[in-house]
Amino acid sequence: MKKFFVTICVFISGLSFAQQTEYVDFKRANGMLNIVLDSSMVKGKVWYNLDMTKSTDSIFLDAVNMTFKNVEISVGDSSTQKLDYSNVDNKIYFKYPFQKNQAYTIYFDYSAKPKQALYFLKRENEPQVWTQGQGKYTSHWFPSLDDVNDKIIFNLSTVKQSEYRFIANGLNTINSPLQDGLVKVSYQMQKPMSSYLLAMVYGKYNKKTKTSKSGIPLEYYYYPEDSLKVEPTYRYSEQMFNFLEEEIGFAYPWQNYKQVPVHDFLYAGMENTSLTIFSDAFVVDEIGFNDKNYVNINAHELAHQWFGDLVTAKSGEHHWLQEGFATYYALLAERDIFGDNYFYYKLLESVLELSRQDLSGNGTSLLDPKSSSLTFYQRGAWVLHALKDKVGDVVFKKAVKNYLEKHQFGNVDTADFISQVEKQYGQSLSHFVNYWIKNKAFPYEEAYDILKRQSTFINEYAMVDCEAKTSKCEEYLKYYVSDEAKVKVISQVPELVTPEVFNNSFKVRQAISEHVTKIPESIKSDYESLLNDKSYITVENALYNLWVNFPLERSKYLSKTRKTIGFSDKNVRMLWIVLNLNTPYYDADNKQVLFDELKGYTAEKYNTDVRIKAFNYLNLMKSCSEECLSNLEKAKSHHNWRMVKFAKELSEKLQQK
Ligand SMILES: [Zn+2]
Repeated sequence: MKKFFVTICVFISGLSFAQQTEYVDFKRANGMLNIVLDSSMVKGKVWYNLDMTKSTDSIFLDAVNMTFKNVEISVGDSSTQKLDYSNVDNKIYFKYPFQKNQAYTIYFDYSAKPKQALYFLKRENEPQVWTQGQGKYTSHWFPSLDDVNDKIIFNLSTVKQSEYRFIANGLNTINSPLQDGLVKVSYQMQKPMSSYLLAMVYGKYNKKTKTSKSGIPLEYYYYPEDSLKVEPTYRYSEQMFNFLEEEIGFAYPWQNYKQVPVHDFLYAGMENTSLTIFSDAFVVDEIGFNDKNYVNINAHELAHQWFGDLVTAKSGEHHWLQEGFATYYALLAERDIFGDNYFYYKLLESVLELSRQDLSGNGTSLLDPKSSSLTFYQRGAWVLHALKDKVGDVVFKKAVKNYLEKHQFGNVDTADFISQVEKQYGQSLSHFVNYWIKNKAFPYEEAYDILKRQSTFINEYAMVDCEAKTSKCEEYLKYYVSDEAKVKVISQVPELVTPEVFNNSFKVRQAISEHVTKIPESIKSDYESLLNDKSYITVENALYNLWVNFPLERSKYLSKTRKTIGFSDKNVRMLWIVLNLNTPYYDADNKQVLFDELKGYTAEKYNTDVRIKAFNYLNLMKSCSEECLSNLEKAKSHHNWRMVKFAKELSEKLQQK
């Protein structure tokens, strides 16, 4: 999974229910689902095939707040009979004299109205339904196993209205029209996975299909009105897929790869097996791509198809085997696209963040299941980078390949991975493991040394420093140093920006819009040219700074940007409205309509980012009354924790005033 913010760790998998895997192996689940939109319920008929490895008189599935009926069992190929069961403590226990080495099929009907893990929404007045199993437990909407250590082949089916799509893990094998515009749809998997990776999406989508070099179908889903955003949103998908298959050295393990954006998702993306679900905030146009694209999340969730889905960490202690690998391989895929400097710069950023975390006393061992996301993701990635540096590319690659081959469709711990590297390397890695993985402190000096040894760009970046302003700083901005180094100088001494500096790349110009907030006359016309940049961040910053610095020309700036909306969070549009409302002589007849538009963005139908922005602006203007307050109240019970947290904090602030 990839989060918007890396401060909160949500996912800790439990050790406590590991025992059942010792006597039963659930093999296959077939679920025929009825998604009841009106009542936000799911009802289903489910068949579980299982093999007993030990005799026992009771087995269970996790099933949160569910009701069951028609519970039956058949032994081997014999006919079905009623099965005694009890439904307590969010589990369903099946009671039967189960015999060792015998296969059984259990059947039941169930229904649930999930409070989490399955979400019913409206988007543009159309229904949308999606799931999130990691950290939320699939057992809220499908009777399954919270324990990740028993992997199951899941096959989901449903009957749906023809104008909507139903997308699930695996291959879409049946699409049969029934009466009254209904269609029966089935998906089948070939290989097993942990229950937290079970997923489905129901909604209005179109799809575009490509094929990887190895022949795997890549399906890009999009909202019908977004056909022009497909290319920028999914840019590099095919290249990254081909790259990762080659780099990992193990063929993509699933039948196809589907990616579906959903409204108001809880995280940035989630790597459900063969079905990545991601936030539609990453559906971007050509300009949005420059500022906030899906490339990193795309690569991260794709890498999880191997690291997480094919081999799954046995417990929270080894969570880095998922997040660290996904983060590192995503970075390798990005290196293939954006180049070495980008790669080393990202690694440098993690060194700085990790050392800050240690300094603030929040550092942990990588094997601490309570570690921060920063530790699991960035330190995990760093361990792999340092390990590869130590043992060499060839050994590293061979070890990863062997690790995946040996543990495919199974569960792993840190020792499983390290032993494969040791085997290829021919030496013990216990010192490395203690130093880089087990120790509480992150070895940032060693990490920094590795970077300096590997990259001249990093050396230059370190050298360029204007924390203490020197005569060289002006030179840096004029002559050739990397964009990243120029951005650093601009952030440290913004007053050195001259008209010439505007001749730099988009990134450097963006840094000007961010750091040069006092605009001298000498660069005014260059600064105005920032309003034409193909970056909504740059335009937002520049509009605000120009409006503040040159009060007499506010009309000019507002007229120039009146049609710009910005990202999916409407960043430019909302700023424009607020500045307009604060420019009394401009567009005077229109104020009420604009104010209503701003208030409207606090409504439930907009996504969390849009609403948070609108609430913040209204609060800033001391204008969060009736409609805004009532929407804020409703936001407190939203399904997205970011929305809830924000709404509670803001309403507390408002009450204190
Ligand atoms: Zn992840």
